[in-house]
Amino acid sequence: MSNVQILLVDDHELFRRTTRSFVESHPNWTVCGEAGDGIEAVEKAKKLRPNVILMDINMPRMDGAEATRIIRREVPECNVIVVTQNHSSIARQQAAAVGAQGFVTKSDLGKDLRQVILSVIGVRDAKAVSLGEGHDAIPEWLRGGGALGDLIYKFDWAKTPLGNIAEWPPSLKTIVRVLLTSRFAMWMSWGPELTFLYNDAYARMTLGNKHPWALGKRSQDVWQEIWADIGPRISQVLKDGKATWDEALMLFLERSGYREETYHTFSYSPLFDDKGKTAGHLCVVTEETDRVIGERRLDSLRSLSAELNKATTEDDVTLSVHRCLEENQKDLPFTLTYLLTEDGQQARLACRSGIQEGHPAAPPVIELGEANGVWPLRDLLGGKDSLLMEGLSGRVGTVPSGFWDKEPSRALLLPISGGTQGATAGIFVAGLNPFRPLDVSYAGFISLIAGQISAAITNARAYELEKKRAEALAELDRAKTTFFSNVSHEFRTPLTLMLGPLQDLLSRSQTHLTPTAKQQLELVNRNGARLLRLVNTLLDFSRIEAGRYQAVYQATDLAGFTSELASVFRSATERAGLKLIVDCPRLEEPVYVDRDMWEKVVLNLISNAFKFTFEGEIAVSLERAGNFAELRVRDTGEGIPPEAIPHLFERFYRVPNTRSRTHEGTGIGLALVQELVKLHGGFMRVESTLGKGSTFIVSIPFGQDHLASSQLGGARSLASTAVGAKPFVEEALRWLPDDENTKHEPIAEAELLAVPCPPTAEAGSRPRILVADDNADMRLYLARLLGEQYQVDCAADGQIAIDIARKHPPNLILSDVMMPNLDGFHSISKRQRNWIMRSRIPFKPTPPAAALDRSFSNSSRGIPLP
Ligand code: ADP
Repeated sequence: MSNVQILLVDDHELFRRTTRSFVESHPNWTVCGEAGDGIEAVEKAKKLRPNVILMDINMPRMDGAEATRIIRREVPECNVIVVTQNHSSIARQQAAAVGAQGFVTKSDLGKDLRQVILSVIGVRDAKAVSLGEGHDAIPEWLRGGGALGDLIYKFDWAKTPLGNIAEWPPSLKTIVRVLLTSRFAMWMSWGPELTFLYNDAYARMTLGNKHPWALGKRSQDVWQEIWADIGPRISQVLKDGKATWDEALMLFLERSGYREETYHTFSYSPLFDDKGKTAGHLCVVTEETDRVIGERRLDSLRSLSAELNKATTEDDVTLSVHRCLEENQKDLPFTLTYLLTEDGQQARLACRSGIQEGHPAAPPVIELGEANGVWPLRDLLGGKDSLLMEGLSGRVGTVPSGFWDKEPSRALLLPISGGTQGATAGIFVAGLNPFRPLDVSYAGFISLIAGQISAAITNARAYELEKKRAEALAELDRAKTTFFSNVSHEFRTPLTLMLGPLQDLLSRSQTHLTPTAKQQLELVNRNGARLLRLVNTLLDFSRIEAGRYQAVYQATDLAGFTSELASVFRSATERAGLKLIVDCPRLEEPVYVDRDMWEKVVLNLISNAFKFTFEGEIAVSLERAGNFAELRVRDTGEGIPPEAIPHLFERFYRVPNTRSRTHEGTGIGLALVQELVKLHGGFMRVESTLGKGSTFIVSIPFGQDHLASSQLGGARSLASTAVGAKPFVEEALRWLPDDENTKHEPIAEAELLAVPCPPTAEAGSRPRILVADDNADMRLYLARLLGEQYQVDCAADGQIAIDIARKHPPNLILSDVMMPNLDGFHSISKRQRNWIMRSRIPFKPTPPAAALDRSFSNSSRGIPLP
């Protein structure tokens, strides 16, 4: 078939363009039309009646499969070749299913299309082209020599130095036969002018449009453009009779209408005539152009992708693009990456490769409103997927030539996405290698580069946005923390001032309050205390976040302290019908904890367990686990759904729809507990089974190396926010049904007093205090309160106090003034007073209980000894 008319059908303009340039590089093939979808393809097939239709499968409106079916039915003389992104096995099925004559995958287009077209049209031409008359006359040694065998037979060799074919020497015939029957690409030279002969494989793979012209020409004329490279090699072979070897040698062939960058691995070996003299040479060659160029492009893509993976900001992205693309100035002699400004009015040159700053072809800013700019960027903003600019020198002047000695005459412009909602973020301009066609693989390579830049810009902008959002959130969080801090301070002061006198009033034994008034004040007191607890928790948070939480880590008998804290809940759990198991065997070494904090940790966890457990037990245990003291608070309650567990320690998080004794709650308890545990260098976790119960596990390291030395021992200057066990237990009791509560005696006040921390030092080494008071509650209260740091002896009246003091002289006597038998200071006899003075024992009459309470809480537990 002399001229093959080809219709290109694809919805991508860039693909049509690159395929067109490929098709048109073949001298006998013409693109007779293009179609962007199936409907258009059918119309054009009917109108143009092409010999071959290259049919994309995935297209809008009507896909290629449907269009092929219609064309095969209505224009059966057209050959359809399906072109698809799919794997070749699927492509084959697709083609067979729609009755197409051939298929080619897009990834192999550059490699296979030519052959597929040839074989598709060859089917029809086979008869016409077939050897026809005279075929039988082909001599035996040329049979099976393919198309070249026929051509060689028909060629008029008499006009060449080889002379009439019938008279060729046997050595020449033999070698030509070897050449023709091989499937390896080969060419050979013979005779004084090194006359050129070759086989089918060589014609297909290497010769391009020099076939069949090259047959019988002088080798030097056939390969004139590379004779400087290969001529000396051939001469050497002819002279020495030794073979050459070249691997992936770059050669610029003129076989497609332009100088083409190609790579070949080949060997030249000598050929001998009948007399054994060197008469020519044989070249066995493998063309490696696709492999070499493919690997080079892959390298660029790989290094760009590796660099871009590390890039987080737009600047990182443009720097990486510059670095990577500078490396490949063969495929990309120069590139320009323009990014649009926020208002979309300008494009700013964000990076370049292969071109100097200030080069006229690389203006730093392009006004998009202006027509006739150096680069027609505006044309790409309307949704075009690419723009090929030809005749560069006429439009933008001289451009750099990159690796080559010839400057690019064409540039491909592609949009960079990554703007808001997928809008165009910029334009990528690539100067094209003047020695390669813009085929599918080259265009694909550049669009992959643009795609990588797009993805990286999108990610960088998303990252930037995320960072800004995170900064805004952090700012909001800081503002919230400051707000919490201010508000909690503001709440705390009036609350304390309200609760103080209220508790005074309530604690007076002889009160003029009516039972109803007392009840109501108790209600106020309870709720005030609850409010104070919440305010304190918020204050704790703000202190932790501001790094102002004043921790004082003290060596503590953690087992004793924890079991005391846990036991506070005993009455409440019993009332609720739950078993409280406390299992805290003494640890062999003390643990450094801030006691206020530890109290909050334990009480919060037990109070939660109580809140969410309706039957069964609550078990509190403490034991050594490696280098950690491990507290476990286990319950047989409602449990926590697995999806809630990752959020459990988030501030204000509450598991929805969990059955609990109360709906009260703020969701900050666990978040606070976790922060407090972290301040101890510890960590916490939870194990839970829905419907079966939960175990909260807190691990605190032994030793003190992980704690700042300034925070070990000592006292704190900020007011403590510890509220003791009372509010926790009182709150828990209110969650019980009324009848549960009224069935029982009220819990003794003493049980609810602050839990003293068991002494870590031996009793003998602690200062001794003698407490004399006729009020048992007061004695108990003071004993518990002071027991943490002192040895405390108690006496119910003055006489007993004196007796005890004689037996165990105290460092300090704390005495009520009004007492039975021997009352306070005023009624002690002079003799006894003298004894006290002589013993140099400080004597402090205790003020009324509430005032004492205040003074104790003001000084954060404990009166220092003089
Ligand atoms: P609050 O108890 O004020 O809601 P917390 O921070 O103490 O806040 O607890 C957060 C959430 O964790 C609770 O609302 C509850 O859903 C869940 N939770 C905590 N402890 C338990 C537990 N022992 N059993 C079941 N769920 C629990």
